Amino acid sequence: MALRLPETLPFHYLSPISYRLQQSRRNTNPVSGTRIHCISNEELEQSRRGLNFVRDKKLLRDLSTWGIGGPCSYFVEVFEQTQLVSAIRYCCDHSIRFIIVGNGSNCLFDDYGFDGCVILNRINFLERIEPGFYRAGSGYLFNRLGVQCSNEGFTGLEFAGGIPGTVGGAVYMNAGANGQESADAIDSIEIVTAGGKFRTLKRADLSFGYRLSPFRNMEDMAAIVAVTFRLGHSALSKGRLQAYLGRRRISQPVGERNAGSVFKNPLELGLTAGELIEKVGLKGFRVGGAMVSSIHANFFINSGGSTSADMLELIHLVKEKVYQKFGIQLKEEILYVHPNHNGSIQTENQPVM
Ligand SMILES: Cc1cc2nc3c(=O)[nH]c(=O)nc-3n(C[C@H](O)[C@H](O)[C@H](O)COP(=O)(O)OP(=O)(O)OC[C@H]3O[C@@H](n4cnc5c(N)ncnc54)[C@H](O)[C@@H]3O)c2cc1C
Repeated sequence: MALRLPETLPFHYLSPISYRLQQSRRNTNPVSGTRIHCISNEELEQSRRGLNFVRDKKLLRDLSTWGIGGPCSYFVEVFEQTQLVSAIRYCCDHSIRFIIVGNGSNCLFDDYGFDGCVILNRINFLERIEPGFYRAGSGYLFNRLGVQCSNEGFTGLEFAGGIPGTVGGAVYMNAGANGQESADAIDSIEIVTAGGKFRTLKRADLSFGYRLSPFRNMEDMAAIVAVTFRLGHSALSKGRLQAYLGRRRISQPVGERNAGSVFKNPLELGLTAGELIEKVGLKGFRVGGAMVSSIHANFFINSGGSTSADMLELIHLVKEKVYQKFGIQLKEEILYVHPNHNGSIQTENQPVM
């Protein structure tokens, strides 16, 4: 059902994300070495009219690979960059907190849903600029991109085969596997600010870490719009892709509802998070409908009817057991979206409940 947004909003305060974005509109610090351009007000107005904001109906469980999560106050799908900017502007103008969602394959949504607007990103294009030089919309499927590039004889994104996220989500998370990560293949990233300005950031000016991107703390960024990847030729890329896909099929709980690795691999002891969890005997352990996979202990499954509370409790218990036995504090890779999340998604060693 498409509804008009009310003029009076249900929030009695300016949430930090909206406040931050409004400030950034007044003070648009140019990032060094970036190209900046704007969409005209006329274009924005046109695309805003085309947006369907759905009120209190959309269930987040339908937007997440875990299949967990209650309703969000507002939901809107965007298929092109002007729509994305319009949706963000609308949220900022009306002090509605918002979150961009790609494929929801790294998010744990709450049973209480999200008291704000979920902007579902479907900006889904792929351009081949020159051999090995691909520009993808941030809503393009990362798995598909990895398979296409590798089959076309280019190396750098073979690991993306089997990762069920979008390009935007993968870059935001700096997704990686098998010794490769997104950051290594990026040439430049186009972002949009809340003020509707587009900037093209060069990879060389950005610093990434293990499952960490600079976008998590970038003051005036509202969303990643498109990413250009520069890949090298390789006769081995297709075979490598197939090998990685084959390895996933036997080592991961394919066909079950999960969000990939729940924890980052710790650097201590040389053991992976999955090995630590297995060593404390928690493979197959369950809380309600949430279960540690018996195939890969760092994958937690919604075995049917799991609530976010089940999953959070399971995460908490696993962390405690691993800490008691090994003195290692596991850190979440998945992001928990609090119903009143306002700007920084809770993760990494913060209490999960
Ligand atoms: C079966 C399975 C296997 C997986 N394997 C791997 C793996 O091998 N390696 C790995 O690293 N991960 C893996 N994952 C986790 C996940 O797929 C990746 O992190 C993925 O890149 C997330 O993309 P997404 O579009 O689903 O992001 P979402 O879950 O939708 O969002 C994740 C975060 O990114 C932000 N975001 C998304 N799009 C944008 C945008 N356009 N602009 C700004 N912010 C944005 C969101 O706000 C959120 O904070 C796996 C998950 C599953 C279910």
